Amino acid sequence: MLPPLFKKIINFFNRFPEIGPRQALRLFFWLVKQPEENKKEFLESLKVLIESVKFCKYCFFPSLEEVCSICSNPKRNEEILMIVARETDVLTLETTKIFKGKYFILGGLILPFEEKSLIKERIKFLETRLKENKIKEVIIGLPFTREAEPTIKFLENILKKYSKIKITKLAKGIPAGGEIEFTDPETLKSALEQRK
Ligand SMILES: [Zn+2]
Repeated sequence: MLPPLFKKIINFFNRFPEIGPRQALRLFFWLVKQPEENKKEFLESLKVLIESVKFCKYCFFPSLEEVCSICSNPKRNEEILMIVARETDVLTLETTKIFKGKYFILGGLILPFEEKSLIKERIKFLETRLKENKIKEVIIGLPFTREAEPTIKFLENILKKYSKIKITKLAKGIPAGGEIEFTDPETLKSALEQRK
């Protein structure tokens, strides 16, 4: 019943994280019912985004510039680097306003027995940053979950080569199985202050 174009767009929505087939349909029907000007504005913004979005060359946060606003901010401490799994972790940590260092976004977590991945590629780039000798402390800002274990092990193996860099982890104030993204600012603040 649905024309191929409709199906194509519904399939697109279906590929969004945490969107199932029913929700994809709902999004589609919602979108087509929007007023003409809203649809146009959405289309134009999306076009600009797709044509101009880059990933910050230092931390991989999406940006319209080569370097994101955090990495280009001279007030941020270059000597402390926090490694996080996702972009949303950066946003959550920024709400605490306590962390003044810079970030490195892995883009997800390494799956067990995964040989090649985007994350491992990014970690290679992380090493070039570590070799610049500017970074004095690396905070592993990953969740305390079973899923994060392979990534933490992989990172620890790499980081131990850099004996001059202090390696710390967030304190376990974060609720068990908790993701940074969903941790409240107060808890995150103390997890950061009590890192070791
Ligand atoms: Zn950046």
